Amino acid sequence: MKRSYLDYNATAPLKPEARQAVLAAMDRAGNPSSVHQDGQAARAILSRARRQAAALAGRPESEVIFTSGATEANNLAISGFAPPAEPKRILASAVEHPSVLEVSDSIEPIPVRASGDVDPEALERRLHDRDSRRTLVSVMAVNNETGVIQPIEELADIAHDAGALFHSDCVQAAPHLELAPLAAVSDIITLSAHKLGGPRGVGALIAKEHVVFTPVQRGGGQERRVRSGTEALEAVAGFGAVCAAQPTYAARGPALLAMRDRMETEVRRIAPNSLIVGADAPRAPHTANIALPGASAETQVMALDLAGVSVSAGSACSSGKIAASHVLTAMGFDAETAGSAIRVSLGWATEEADIDRFLDAYEKMVHRLSRT
Ligand code: PMP
Repeated sequence: MKRSYLDYNATAPLKPEARQAVLAAMDRAGNPSSVHQDGQAARAILSRARRQAAALAGRPESEVIFTSGATEANNLAISGFAPPAEPKRILASAVEHPSVLEVSDSIEPIPVRASGDVDPEALERRLHDRDSRRTLVSVMAVNNETGVIQPIEELADIAHDAGALFHSDCVQAAPHLELAPLAAVSDIITLSAHKLGGPRGVGALIAKEHVVFTPVQRGGGQERRVRSGTEALEAVAGFGAVCAAQPTYAARGPALLAMRDRMETEVRRIAPNSLIVGADAPRAPHTANIALPGASAETQVMALDLAGVSVSAGSACSSGKIAASHVLTAMGFDAETAGSAIRVSLGWATEEADIDRFLDAYEKMVHRLSRT
């Protein structure tokens, strides 16, 4: 049976450009920190990838810190951020990825509206009740569960006016939004290669020169002395290649939006009691979060899987533990509705036939569920 992969927010299939770059780097001996010619050749691969990642973000190469992925990058941003004076304070939106929210017990949540976007006034109130020069504000550009786009420019301005620094997890924004304006207004952004169609296990922080970090991982002093350890050259090369290829793939945005909107219109026809989470806020074109009250997300994911369609329940990062999503809970959904939400996410290789296969499977599933 031909399958349709509609779980890009968990991971995107590998793009051919990335595969080629990974394979080429694998055949190259040498540690990028060694001075001999083999080392220099390895360093050239690293430098190229750094240039490619920097170019996608419209930032200088010196700001790129390669990590083992966005989880490590977010941990480094939150744990490693070293303000001019202690105690430091971290404010993060209530809908951040767990790799931000779970880093410290003392993170103060910024609430979101029912539509899923951060209320700028709520951030302003929290910042102005204290001296903010020790504060880092962390708000993701696009939510991984709902696709909701946060007003990053406005929130970064508010943080900066109060003297705070601003971090944005741009993992889900990078495949669909222009990254440079987001990187320009943020002090630190987080990226992950595998959401762009690159290899798993590599990501980056792009941090402006004025941001001071205490290293979380110490050793040989690689990556601006902030993240020691020999760089994963194969993975980094693949990451660079997808960054360079991204502008071409981004041109598919309007086609993805049309497919996503067609899918949602059909879903509402098939199941009039379904609801599209986050539909009242601006959303990136690749994500549909569909709640079907009365049917558990787990049952739906399994039924769709058997019909050849891969989607996830809430956030795939927390799959295995089917608990109500913290994102939907923060938006005010009750546990039953939140527990009935599935996430269908599209990307660079999605075609109309994938949407047709999903809709066919969804319709059969809804009819079966209505008979039980
Ligand atoms: N942030 C967001 C918004 C994500 O969607 C993910 C992946 N689910 C991560 C961080 C973690 O990325 P990685 O898999 O590279 O650790």
